[in-house]
Amino acid sequence: IVGPQRRWSWVEIDLSAIRNNVAVAKRRLSPGTRLMAVVKANAYGHGAVQVARTALSAGATQLAVATVSEGIQLRKAGIDAPVLVLSEPPIAAVPLLLRYNLMPSVYTSEFAVAYGEEADRHGLRAPFHLAINTGMNRIGVRFDEAVDFVRQIAFHRALEQVGTFTHFATADCAETLDFNMQLRRFKETIVSLRQVGVNPGLVHCANSAALLRYPETHMDMARLGISMYGFHPCPETRGYFDLRPALSVHARITAVNTPPMSEGVSYGMHYRSPGSVKICAVPIGYADGYARALSSRTSIIYDGHLCRQVGNICMDQCMFEVDLRSHGTHRRLDPHVGDEVLLVGAQNGVSVTIEDLCDVVGTIPHELCCALSLRMPKVYL
Ligand code: PLP
Repeated sequence: IVGPQRRWSWVEIDLSAIRNNVAVAKRRLSPGTRLMAVVKANAYGHGAVQVARTALSAGATQLAVATVSEGIQLRKAGIDAPVLVLSEPPIAAVPLLLRYNLMPSVYTSEFAVAYGEEADRHGLRAPFHLAINTGMNRIGVRFDEAVDFVRQIAFHRALEQVGTFTHFATADCAETLDFNMQLRRFKETIVSLRQVGVNPGLVHCANSAALLRYPETHMDMARLGISMYGFHPCPETRGYFDLRPALSVHARITAVNTPPMSEGVSYGMHYRSPGSVKICAVPIGYADGYARALSSRTSIIYDGHLCRQVGNICMDQCMFEVDLRSHGTHRRLDPHVGDEVLLVGAQNGVSVTIEDLCDVVGTIPHELCCALSLRMPKVYL
C-alpha cells in the first residue's frame, strides 16, 4: 500500500507545473545560456528524482544539490546530467564525489588538494566549480583573493575548473545597492581570472530572482530554484511571469464532532464552540510542516468553501469548523468522515496558497515546502 492509502493526508505534485515553470525560465534566457535546476533538499520538498527528470526533459541541462547524498540519490536513479554540489563537502566525501561523478564547489586549498590528489591516484579528472564570495559572506573565496587562490591550486594537474559562480543575497529585494555591488565584484573577478590566463569555465550567478529580474546576470548559466516550483521570488515579478505552483496539500476528514455551545476544541481549548458548527479532524499536524503558528489563523477548503481552522494544531492532527448556518449558498455543508479537504490549493474559486501560510508564520515558501513534504506521502500528477 502506498501514499494516500496508508494515510489520509498527502501532498500532490503537478509535474506539468514544473515543466511550465522551466519553460518560463528558458524563455527568459537567451538560447546560449544553460539552465541548472536546483533540486537540493529533495527538490524543495517536491521530490528530487521526479523533479530532476521533469526539469531535464523540459530543457534544464544541469542539476544542483546541497549534499553528496542528494547527488548520489540522483545517480542511483539513473540520472546522468552534470550535478553540482553547492558547497564544499567534507574531505572524507571525496571518494564518493569521484565514484558518482559529482562536481563539488571549491573554496579551500585543503579540499582542492585532497580532491585533486585522490582523482590523480585513480587517473581521473577532478572537475569543480570555484565559489566566489562577492559579499554574501556565506561560502566562497573572497572575490579579491580569487586569483591568488587559483594560482595556489593550479599546480594540481587533475583539478579542472569547469565553472565559477557566486550567489546573491539580495536579488529578490527592492533595494539594489548590495546586489549591484555583488554583480560588479563578480564580473571584475572573472575579468581578473581571464587576465592571468585562467579559464573560469561556466560563469554563473543568477538564482530565480536574478534570472527573472536581471538579464545581465544570465551569463553562461542560471540556477533556477524556487521559481521552478511555481513561486515568485519577490513581488516585483508578479504579473510578468506565468509561474504555477506544483504542490498542493490534501487530507481526508477522520472524525466529525458537534460539540455543544462553549465546549472547547484541542489543546488549551482556546477555541470554544458556538454550538452551531461541526468540528472536523484531519490527520495533518505540525510534524507534517503544518506549523503550530498557523493555529486559528488559516483556512481549510471543504467542498469548495473556505472553513476556519480552529483550535491549536496538534503534532499529527488539526481541526476545522464547518458552520452549519450559512455558507453564502443555499446548500448546507454536510461533512463526513472520508471527505477530501484541501489545506493548500484552489477549488471552486477559493484558494489557500503556500504564500498565504508564509505570511501567517513569517517565513518563505522554500522553508514551508521543505517542511510540508517531510512525512506526508507524495502523489505525482
Ligand atoms: N544557487 C545557490 C548557491 C543556492 O544556495 C540557491 C538556493 O538557495 C539557489 C541557487 C537557488 O535559489 P532560488 O531558490 O532563490 O532560485
